[in-house]
Amino acid sequence: MTGIAVLGSTNMDLVAYVERAPGRGETVTGREFRTVPGGKGANQAVAAARAGGEVTMIGAVGDDEYGVRLRSNLEHAGVDTDLLHTVEGPSGTAHIVVDDSGANSIVVVPGANGTVTALGPGEMAAIAGADLLLLQLELPLSAVIEGARVAHAQGVRTILTPSPVQPLPSELLDCVDLLIPNEHEAAEISGFTDPHASARYLLSQVPAVVITLGSKGCLYAARGGEPVVLPAPEVTAVDTTGAGDTFVGTLAVALGERRPVPRALAWASAAAALCVQRPGASTSMPYRTEIDAA
Ligand code: AMP
Repeated sequence: MTGIAVLGSTNMDLVAYVERAPGRGETVTGREFRTVPGGKGANQAVAAARAGGEVTMIGAVGDDEYGVRLRSNLEHAGVDTDLLHTVEGPSGTAHIVVDDSGANSIVVVPGANGTVTALGPGEMAAIAGADLLLLQLELPLSAVIEGARVAHAQGVRTILTPSPVQPLPSELLDCVDLLIPNEHEAAEISGFTDPHASARYLLSQVPAVVITLGSKGCLYAARGGEPVVLPAPEVTAVDTTGAGDTFVGTLAVALGERRPVPRALAWASAAAALCVQRPGASTSMPYRTEIDAA
């Protein structure tokens, strides 16, 4: 089994569904409210575990009710949570307003995630013993950089999802093997809106890049090779939340199993296409047997 360490965030998503989002100083009545386990780190961990990876989650939740639920959600998916620490104070939360057009606005309060500023010996050992490390940017950058350094020093392949997008220091990029931005993040980091131009720029910083292009699929480029565009399966999307995290978690499992890159990408695309056909984020992530069947 592929050993995957995820150093990342665990949040409770607090989602209010409204006809129209409120303006400044305004109050509107919502239609529905849901609490949904999320956080980019935890979502990638669930996706990788469902796809057949042996996954360890490194991070923190608060000592509140959300923390208990977030941990049990990960354990239910088969993720090892021994290194998901419970710290004093609130868990991370994402306050999401979704309007009838499907547009959303989000406030993320890091809570416990913000306490993960450095790694202890247990975390370092888990990263060193993994086949791959998955990183995003919802934890303090100091911990993300430390995790990437430990992985790089031990020859553990590192995949970074640069979200939420922010300037990426070279000390981090120097330790990244594969960067997976979506097309907006790629444009923001590179300054090029064309994905091919963006990929060319990004290859000056990292050895390989996958730019995800929503319903258009993805673009893979590696130093010394020709870029490849892989179209997404044509499906009817009902909710694209979690599609990117499904793609990354599943791709990590396939790469860990040493599948050739084009086949790994096709498998991850099949998984993400299954995810968008069902409502929810981590709840809509497919299991290995479903991905194989697709
Ligand atoms: P995104 O984060 O929107 O770029 O999506 C990540 C990945 O999810 C894409 O590269 C596709 O593989 C898949 N995906 C997203 N939206 C769709 C869609 N409407 N139909 C099929 N696949 C999708």
